[in-house]
Amino acid sequence: MSYSGTVVVGGGVIGLSIAWRLAADTPVTLLDPAPARGASWVAGGMLAPVTESWPGEEDLLELGCASLDRWPDYAADLGVELRTDGTVVAALDAADAAQLDILADHLASLGRAVDRLAGRDLRQREPAIGPSVRSGLFVPGDLAVDNRELLRHLMDAAARAGVTFDRRRATLVHPGEVELADGSGIRSGTTVIAAGAWSGGLHPALDRLVRPVKGEILRLRARPGVLAPRHTVRALVESRPVYLVPRAGDELVLGATQYEAGFDTEVTVGGVRDLLADAERVVPGIAEYGLTETAAGLRAGSRDNLPLLGMLEPGVLVAAGHHRNGLLLAPITADAVRAMVAGEDPPAEVLAADPARHVPTRR
Ligand SMILES: Cc1cc2nc3c(=O)[nH]c(=O)nc-3n(C[C@H](O)[C@H](O)[C@H](O)COP(=O)(O)OP(=O)(O)OC[C@H]3O[C@@H](n4cnc5c(N)ncnc54)[C@H](O)[C@@H]3O)c2cc1C
Repeated sequence: MSYSGTVVVGGGVIGLSIAWRLAADTPVTLLDPAPARGASWVAGGMLAPVTESWPGEEDLLELGCASLDRWPDYAADLGVELRTDGTVVAALDAADAAQLDILADHLASLGRAVDRLAGRDLRQREPAIGPSVRSGLFVPGDLAVDNRELLRHLMDAAARAGVTFDRRRATLVHPGEVELADGSGIRSGTTVIAAGAWSGGLHPALDRLVRPVKGEILRLRARPGVLAPRHTVRALVESRPVYLVPRAGDELVLGATQYEAGFDTEVTVGGVRDLLADAERVVPGIAEYGLTETAAGLRAGSRDNLPLLGMLEPGVLVAAGHHRNGLLLAPITADAVRAMVAGEDPPAEVLAADPARHVPTRR
């Protein structure tokens, strides 16, 4: 049986970020039959704790904002570009506007004021928005990143830092040992379970704590002459959320559906139809775009939408359950795991994500 100081199971944005940062301290093996794919490959790329927030999820907002603060350094270390134009949030009907008022009031009560704008003012800020939009918000601080560019840079940075990529699949994690699908195993000082929606099967404590949440998403290409959005545009359309995230060049990412459908990743006609129809009501110009890709991915849902970040038992850590915010939370997750592996305290905002809130853990 081979030995590695630290084994990271899963090479999406979370596992890659952890492996890259940990490799500065210890030899790291990253186990994944298909690294840099998973939900991380599919995602929209918003780094948006403020527009994702909701009353009752204050711990997630704190965690997200603490990670957003780390993003500029994390991106600079990787050589990845960030979009800093901010987010406009649009409401179509009166009920949608009332939902945005709840969000704006909630943020104001936390001292995080956002600009409330009438439809006309919103269109002035983002001319691609159509006349049906009634009102909205402008959130300057949210960022966005090209997730696929990020993954390419993470793979390179991890390899340069000395991470060993092992394309085998893990089946079960014990303290000091990882069982593999080919019947062999790897001994390790510490194992980090970072296998996204698949993490629930890798340790008995995670059974039913992490579940797949399907999301469909489209990629569009601007054709000559279209009026392309400059900002990330999020909207509520008769209570259904939809978003458009511009990329450098002519790409626009349009997401995303959300279903509880097990491990199904087939893109459905209904999902694509709803996304296009809702998005067109907000940004009419998308009818002139080319449709270049449809995809579905599996978010790793947790019971309370906070990730599971911490020790399950001596030598076994979990970093999973990042649900809709795995890209946003990658920098703070990597910093937290690096601290915990070194026996140091993680950032304070991470304490709310300790898996001990759901299951007995051993230290
Ligand atoms: C449609 C959609 C849009 C999204 N948009 C955003 C967004 O705008 N902003 C944001 O912050 N987040 C977004 N998310 C969420 C984000 O994509 C996830 O939270 C994030 O990618 C989770 O990363 P991960 O590394 O935990 O999981 P994944 O990226 O799913 O990676 C898990 C990895 O584990 C590997 N693996 C699985 N089982 C095993 C095993 N047994 N052994 C070894 N390896 C294994 C897989 O091959 C995979 O590479 C979105 C998600 C979806 C689906």
